[in-house]
Amino acid sequence: MKTKTVIVIGAGIGGINAATHLAKQGLHVTVIEKNARPGGRCDRLSREGHHFDTGPTLLVMPLLYEAEFAALGASVREMLDLQRVDPTYHLAFDDGSQLALTSDMKSLQEQLEKFEPGSFQGLLRYLNEGHRHYHVGMEKMVHPDFRKATDFFKLGNIPLIHQVKPLVKHYANMSNYFDDPRLKAAFTFQDVYMGLSPFEAPATFSMMPYTELAHGVWYPKGGMYQVVEALMSLAREAGVEFVFDATVEQINVNGKSAHGVVVDGQRLEADAVLANADLPYVYQNLLPQDGQGKKLERKRYSCSVISFFWGLDKPYETLPPHTLFLAKDYRENFDSIIRDLSLPANPSLYIHAPARLDPSMAPQGQDTLIGIVPVGHMSANGEQDWGSLRDQARQHIFRRLRTLGIHDLKEHIKFEINFTPLSWRKRYNLAKGSTHGLCHNLTQLGYFRPDYQHSQYRNLYFVGASTRPGTGMPTAMVSGRQSAQRILDGLQI
Ligand SMILES: Cc1cc2nc3c(=O)[nH]c(=O)nc-3n(C[C@H](O)[C@H](O)[C@H](O)COP(=O)(O)OP(=O)(O)OC[C@H]3O[C@@H](n4cnc5c(N)ncnc54)[C@H](O)[C@@H]3O)c2cc1C
Repeated sequence: MKTKTVIVIGAGIGGINAATHLAKQGLHVTVIEKNARPGGRCDRLSREGHHFDTGPTLLVMPLLYEAEFAALGASVREMLDLQRVDPTYHLAFDDGSQLALTSDMKSLQEQLEKFEPGSFQGLLRYLNEGHRHYHVGMEKMVHPDFRKATDFFKLGNIPLIHQVKPLVKHYANMSNYFDDPRLKAAFTFQDVYMGLSPFEAPATFSMMPYTELAHGVWYPKGGMYQVVEALMSLAREAGVEFVFDATVEQINVNGKSAHGVVVDGQRLEADAVLANADLPYVYQNLLPQDGQGKKLERKRYSCSVISFFWGLDKPYETLPPHTLFLAKDYRENFDSIIRDLSLPANPSLYIHAPARLDPSMAPQGQDTLIGIVPVGHMSANGEQDWGSLRDQARQHIFRRLRTLGIHDLKEHIKFEINFTPLSWRKRYNLAKGSTHGLCHNLTQLGYFRPDYQHSQYRNLYFVGASTRPGTGMPTAMVSGRQSAQRILDGLQI
């Protein structure tokens, strides 16, 4: 029998992962990637001995990594040299107080009690709820492949309303555990990873602070790009073929099926097509315009970020690996990013110093720094002045660092590379320059997220952040495995 062929558009985490599963089942799989290297958003930059992870910097949900590497017949612990980052984050508040989020419960207790007497008991209760939300969420929302409505709308799922509090707002729920607004912020800021404000996110997302404290935040020696290298070695071993610097211009469709793609004017045929490029972009740019692209335009998108990558000629050893400045105008921050699609007047922001975790990320006696400032995604009217917003964001970072006693960063910058939402759109074809794709509000979660399979062209499939289960590297691996299974079932293999 003739070997079945699959073309994968894009070598992001989801695309590589799906391709490997398919090749392991004997399919001939070709991945076509517009950029010169694999990884998509999990990308890297190197200059003058400074190495930057330009996308993900946190290896979170390690249990998912373990399970997904195991599903590929590999061990994540053997393939990556992982170290636990503890304390995970150093939080710095506007009033000068600081909190090191650590799994050392004694230290955490001492710190929390200074913020608010009795708050450690509140944290233990919060983590208990987070534990339930994590495990039930994984079992009922992340792992099931909802192929039809009744896979989700069934009696067994009714208790979810109480079990994972989807109808309770995350921030409002925090009053059950803490009074101090700094602590409420310390255990909800992770919602921004889902593209949501804690004032609108379901309380379900307490699973994130829970997994970060309970299962840890990790770092692979050599940086997050090592995950891409590991997945690529498994893909190549399975026989996946990669073509880089090649942009898919169109998906060829016909009636009820897709029969290939056009790359650089050349038609390539396949039995199935799997799109790893951002799902809204695929509908809007690679398929015939039938109204679905317009419909997706109106969906809610996650925020974007302005990122700075600095090579510095001196080390800043007092700066921990992950520092988060959380603004006191917490609500205003989210309103300005999510509602006004702008840069807050006093933004919360994040600094990553990878050389604290792996000295080889910077030349000896120097430093490598990444500054990330969340901003709104690109607006439809294109009114945002990204040059000016970028310059403001840079000044906010310098101002924040001064509060930690770092006054001379500007003078020690050897070079700067920066990304705005325009860069995210250009580099990876992310709709609206939104870094996490479609956001994860209730109506875009689980079964309600765009399906793996196109509703009309039944051999056209999707994988990655804007389809199921959602954003994040480990979830992209889940997405890869599940979409591959859909293809195998569709091709009756
Ligand atoms: C700034 C930032 C920080 C993040 N931090 C974290 C973190 O700390 N931890 C975490 O787990 N996750 C994090 N994420 C999220 C994580 O990176 C993504 O959810 C995940 O990598 C998405 O993978 P994907 O499978 O959707 O593929 P993508 O990364 O979207 O890759 C899709 C690929 O398709 C290619 N492509 C697009 N159009 C075409 C075309 N026409 N032809 C050919 N190829 C095409 C693109 O170039 C790209 O390589 C972060 C993301 C960003 C941007």
